[in-house]
Order: sequence, then C-alpha cells, then structure tokens
Amino acid sequence: MADGSWYDADIERVIISEQQIRDKVAELAKQVSADHADAPDGVLLVCVLKGAVMFMADFARELGRLGPSSEMEFMAVSSYGQGTTSSGVVRILKDLDRDIAGRHVIVVEDIVDSGLTLSWLLKYLESRGAAAIDVVALFRKPEAVKVPVDVRYVGFDIPSEFVVGYGLDFAERYRELPYVGVLKPEVYARG
Ligand code: 5GP
Ligand code: MG
Ligand code: MG
Repeated sequence: MADGSWYDADIERVIISEQQIRDKVAELAKQVSADHADAPDGVLLVCVLKGAVMFMADFARELGRLGPSSEMEFMAVSSYGQGTTSSGVVRILKDLDRDIAGRHVIVVEDIVDSGLTLSWLLKYLESRGAAAIDVVALFRKPEAVKVPVDVRYVGFDIPSEFVVGYGLDFAERYRELPYVGVLKPEVYARG
C-alpha cells in the first residue's frame, strides 16, 4: 500500500489495491463491451454522484477503447435514513439532463450495501422510459444479497465494513485515495 502519501497514516488496512482496481475495471469494461456491442446508439452511462466518480472516469475510458460508444449522465441522490443506514426514501439532488427514453442505460455505482438506493433508482430510470437498464457496481457488501436488485456486473465482494477511497468518503474526505481501505479507529474519534 504505502506510497508515502499523507493518507496512508489514517488507513488501518487496504482492502483492494490500486492495481486490483485497475485490473478489475478493465475486466468489467470488457464484459460490458461484449454484452452491449450491438446497442444501436451506444450506451448511456449514468453515474451516481459522488461516490462513483472515480469508477465512472476509469470505466468509461476502458469501455471507450473497446466500444460501443457511450454518453455520460450524472445524477445525485440523497437517501434519508437513521445515521449510516439508508431508508430507501430517496430525494433527487441532481436529475438527468436529458431524455433517456429508448436508451440502453448502464448505471455506474460505487457500492451496493442495503441496495435500497439502487432499487429506487432503477424504478426511476424505468419510469423515464429507458429501453434497457443494467447495473455495474464496483463493490458489493454481504447485506446486498438480501435485496432483490439485479446487479449484472460486480467488481468485488467486500466484507461488511465501512470503507473509504476511490470515490468513497468519510465526511467528504478520502475520496481521492487510489485504493480502498478501512480507516483507523482514531480517525473517527477525531471527529
Ligand atoms: P445502500 O442504499 O445500498 O445501502 O447505499 C449505498 C450507498 O451508501 C453507496 O452508494 C455509498 O454511497 C454508501 N456506502 C455504502 N457502504 C459504504 C462504505 O463502506 N463506505 C462509504 N464511504 N460509503 C458507503
Ligand atoms: Mg452510490
Ligand atoms: Mg458518502
């Protein structure tokens, strides 16, 4: 792990390394490319901000090399919940910029935990008339197996721990880390 950056001191353990992420993103892009090669107008990537921002950038580049062509949309949602668990009640903070009717949509997600946010989002995209919707999620936690949400492409199954890095934050920090890891307990105590 240690590349000598300031954040290494705050990380207890690296769960997924930068190299593992890079290899997996390329592999996911290859699968999506093969399955969607004949999408007539290419695919419409919908990134769920902010956590998926790194994944979106890297995944879109990899998919771009292989085809089909893609377009990018960004949505921001907030799920109301008690503390750290989401409730499934979702508010749109930033909506799609345009019509997705008839389009082949690929939702680019950072992590599926309870799956409540995602399941709401899929219903929403359906209601906007997408012709097909697939989900690519870089990480999945064990809780997610209980949820009847079809995530077609999953990068890594990770333990049920709170992780940061590669887009995932704690109090808006640590998104820029190139790897995914668990914070030291004292970081939470610092507040
Ligand atoms: P869900 O509705 O599936 O419970 O919520 C998923 C969202 O919660 C993810 O898109 C992500 O933003 C956030 N989340 C879930 N697990 C983690 C985690 O371990 N670390 C961070 N930073 N965010 C998480
Ligand atoms: Mg997310
Ligand atoms: Mg967050």
